[in-house]
Amino acid sequence: MLGHDDGYFTGNQEQSNFFLENVQAVMRSFKAEVVYEDSTDAKTGEVRHFLSYKVPFKNADEEVNILVIAKDITDIKRLKIQAEFNEKRLNYVLETTQEGVWDWDINAGKVFHNQYWFTLTGLNESQSSFDDFEACILVEDRAKVQTALKNCLEGDSKYCAEFRIHRPDGQVIWVLDRGEVVERDALGKPLRMIGAAQDITQQKYDKHQIEQLAFYDPLTSLPNRRLLHQCLERTIIYNQQHHSVAAVMFLDLDNFKMLNDTQGHAFGDLLLVEVAHRLKAAIVQENTIARFGGDEFVMVINKLDLNHSAAAQQVFDIAKHVHMALSKPFFLTSNIPGVEKGIHVEHQLTASIGVVIFNGRNFTEVDELLKLADLALYRAKTEGRNQTVIFDPSMQQDLWAAQQLQNNFRKAIGQNQFELFYQPQFNDERRIIGLEALIRWPVPSPNKDLALVEYISPSDFIPMAEETGLILPLGIWVLTHACQQITSWQSHPILKDMTVSVNISAKQLWQPNFIEQVCEIVKQAGLKPAQLKLEITESVLLNDVVDTIHKLHVLKELGIHISLDDFGTGYSSLSYLKRLPVNEIKIDQSFIRDLMTDESDSIMVKAIVDLSKNFGIGVIAEGVETEEQFNQLLLFGCRQFQGYFFSKPLSLLQLKAFVGLLSA
Ligand code: C2E
Ligand code: MG
Ligand code: MG
Repeated sequence: MLGHDDGYFTGNQEQSNFFLENVQAVMRSFKAEVVYEDSTDAKTGEVRHFLSYKVPFKNADEEVNILVIAKDITDIKRLKIQAEFNEKRLNYVLETTQEGVWDWDINAGKVFHNQYWFTLTGLNESQSSFDDFEACILVEDRAKVQTALKNCLEGDSKYCAEFRIHRPDGQVIWVLDRGEVVERDALGKPLRMIGAAQDITQQKYDKHQIEQLAFYDPLTSLPNRRLLHQCLERTIIYNQQHHSVAAVMFLDLDNFKMLNDTQGHAFGDLLLVEVAHRLKAAIVQENTIARFGGDEFVMVINKLDLNHSAAAQQVFDIAKHVHMALSKPFFLTSNIPGVEKGIHVEHQLTASIGVVIFNGRNFTEVDELLKLADLALYRAKTEGRNQTVIFDPSMQQDLWAAQQLQNNFRKAIGQNQFELFYQPQFNDERRIIGLEALIRWPVPSPNKDLALVEYISPSDFIPMAEETGLILPLGIWVLTHACQQITSWQSHPILKDMTVSVNISAKQLWQPNFIEQVCEIVKQAGLKPAQLKLEITESVLLNDVVDTIHKLHVLKELGIHISLDDFGTGYSSLSYLKRLPVNEIKIDQSFIRDLMTDESDSIMVKAIVDLSKNFGIGVIAEGVETEEQFNQLLLFGCRQFQGYFFSKPLSLLQLKAFVGLLSA
């Protein structure tokens, strides 16, 4: 500095003036001072900061001098500015973040929180201790949080916990809280922990909603088919690992469709919800109950006895409980808009249950289990409903046999393997008046040498044909052949005036184009409509009654006769007989069989004959096997007959021979 003035060091005139004036002022006041000053480097133009100690003193001549010690603090100042900037930034982040940040001084037991933490927890700033925080965690979640914290404080793991907070305003929210130990002493003792809590209530809710939609039935809130599948997979694995036994119970409400059809779907839904409640109440909690679809429910019963028959007994006990729970009447109230008090319906219900018991070794596929339980359920249904059936392997053989039959039947339709037999019908003078066409399915005899043909009885394949819908093509085949057969006898003295009765399945009648089909077939064959009788059963009433009755009217108006087959075995005969446009009723053979021995059957037959007379419709007795039966029926006033007493169903050849005999 020697030999230079202030201006030499700083290119800035203002600064050099300040330095001079400041030094002079300090000297004048004769008091030491600390001065912060900036100086622009004359060479580089860089502004640097100095901390200057300015100490005035007098020399030996009593003249005032000054000692200046300047320290370049440019770097320190920069750091300070940086620190201030960082602090501001941190505060900004802390105040704007949607996370409740906490900074826990563990030794002092003090916790710093940002503003949002208070917003999140609903606590106020005087409640910022760790205890205050812990107190607002839901009691049942506290242990979880404590364990997570303990693990973090003791080890190196980070802290992470999801739990619920009970806010002072009463709201319960879900929180995701995460943090870590940021400082430990030399011995590893934690000193400080920092973390942040997030409100995840909405996420939890969304997740729940999504799960609910994906895995639960919206109507009953029970697990749906998908969740059931997972649950069964787990049960199978559990059984395998623990050598335990479980059961799948497949439950189907009996006649649920009836309630749905008669009272409407709203009541059907109400009933399903109530059934779900009762089922849940009827089984213990560790067992699963799911809605499989429609009116089908599936229960998974865990930890059954290892002994099969003991397990079966347990299953029957549970099933009994379920049957009982469902047997109490259901009181359903539907709130129909506009109807003030709603509509009340009382409904009585039964259910069928199919069960498969499994141990992790015998059945290991979910679909297989469900299929077998369903098979047992089917058996429960066919054996009269309102019961529980446990699967046994013979059912599977029956199933295979049924599938075999179905395959063969399909082939038979394709290859035209069927034949029609005709069973003659007679009047009171034992004169032949008509024929009932009865389907026959010939199968080659096992003994080929004899070239004998055996027939599969219609009762063995018609129900299957109905179930599979194959009755439709078969029905058309029968109708076509029967009509053509009658017209081909136009020149035959006896057969030319025969009526032909053709059995029509309900499914056929329900076809929208049934009338057109019949008309077309009759026209093609050139048959007089009055020569055709369609035999229907009351089962035609199980679907759209109005449409069915309308169709029968149309057929009747076309001149085709309608005969009500198997009369007396249905459930609604009398109430519908009035409305059903039939020409004739056919007394079911079960009444004729015991006509001579069972008084109630005899009364019934007489009543049916009288009834038909009063209604002005014809009556025919079928299954007449003896002369006594015939005479008794004559006494009752019956004038038409069919049965083995007169003739069995005959092949074409046999029929011609039979008619030849008659005319001879
Ligand atoms: P269904 O219409 O009531 O036919 C009468 C059944 O009783 C026939 O059995 C007949 O052979 C039998 N039967 C006749 N008289 C006597 C008798 O005196 N004693 C005894 N025990 N039985 C007698 P089938 O031919 O086995 O037919 C059984 C059922 O199969 C029929 O009952 C009918 O419902 C159905 N069916 C037969 N052919 C057809 C068809 O072409 N289409 C449809 N949809 N169903 C058919
Ligand atoms: Mg019949
Ligand atoms: Mg019949």
